[in-house]
Amino acid sequence: MTLADPFPSVRVRAPGKINVFLEVGRLQPDGYHDLATAFQAVSLYEDVVATHDDDFTIAQVTGSVPVLGVPRDERNLALRAARLLAEETGYHGGVRIDLYKEVPVSGGMGGGSADAAATLLACDALWGTGLSSGDLQKLAARLGADVPFALLGGTAVGTGRGDRLNPALARGRVDWVLVTNPVGVSTPEAYGMLDRHREEHGAQIGQGAESPAVDTDVLHALRQGDPQMLAACLRNDLQAATLRLRPDLTETMELGESSGALAGIVSGSGPTIAFLASGAEAAAELQQTLDAAGHDTLLVHGPVPGARIVG
Ligand code: ATP
Repeated sequence: MTLADPFPSVRVRAPGKINVFLEVGRLQPDGYHDLATAFQAVSLYEDVVATHDDDFTIAQVTGSVPVLGVPRDERNLALRAARLLAEETGYHGGVRIDLYKEVPVSGGMGGGSADAAATLLACDALWGTGLSSGDLQKLAARLGADVPFALLGGTAVGTGRGDRLNPALARGRVDWVLVTNPVGVSTPEAYGMLDRHREEHGAQIGQGAESPAVDTDVLHALRQGDPQMLAACLRNDLQAATLRLRPDLTETMELGESSGALAGIVSGSGPTIAFLASGAEAAAELQQTLDAAGHDTLLVHGPVPGARIVG
């Protein structure tokens, strides 16, 4: 850093997400699946503060959620994002990264991906590397399937391996009650369970589509901003696998659905369960019921904007 440096540090905020639709395609020979998903960014935010430094470090990790499971070494997606940007732009310095997390860790809500997206934007501003949003999107896709969406925010459709992302039209506000769970679910384990289930019961349930696609009903419901319509077409192909790995979540699902939620869905690979409410008041009532039953809950809404500089 020099005295003339206009930005000693940059703060960027990026949202977590709920997949309101997730179709998992057939297992490919390389072990991956094509996906079709509709993302909605929701009002839980990760703040990344990037400060000039000679080395690449994750300094503080704090937040409103337990952050014990967050690695501070090279496994941290924020650190990988900073290194990738430096490599691609030929930047020679480093960065100190501080994280403030609101998205439950290993919760299926893309918190690490939001950190990576926020770090790309923060370092680009801090270092003056001046990449276009298209270039940042390309780097984001190399870091993980959910990272491009955390940059974009709002509502969007993702297909392929997360490399194809298109904004979707959405009207109004959707209210959710989230039930979080302290014990995370590993995403690879959830996919592994889905693959085994399809292998064993392929005759009844099929092996998954060759080219998965987001249902037009979901896109219509999002365009209309109609929670009832959306409730009828929420879908997550990983849900059955996650509930098989974590039978305790079935009870939570049943409680929410019998206590006024329009519908419940496991978020990504879980364990967070997202309950769709008919409005803000209904969401607050549902939250009270779930709290009284001893659950940890969060009230959120979507869609909200993607990663942006806040200071
Ligand atoms: P995914 O579905 O991408 O596996 P998730 O949304 O369920 O993730 P995250 O909180 O994003 O949950 O992180 C999953 C795992 O990634 C964590 O267990 C942690 O080991 C690792 N990880 C790497 N970087 C981060 C980060 N910045 N914040 C949180 N976890 C991180």
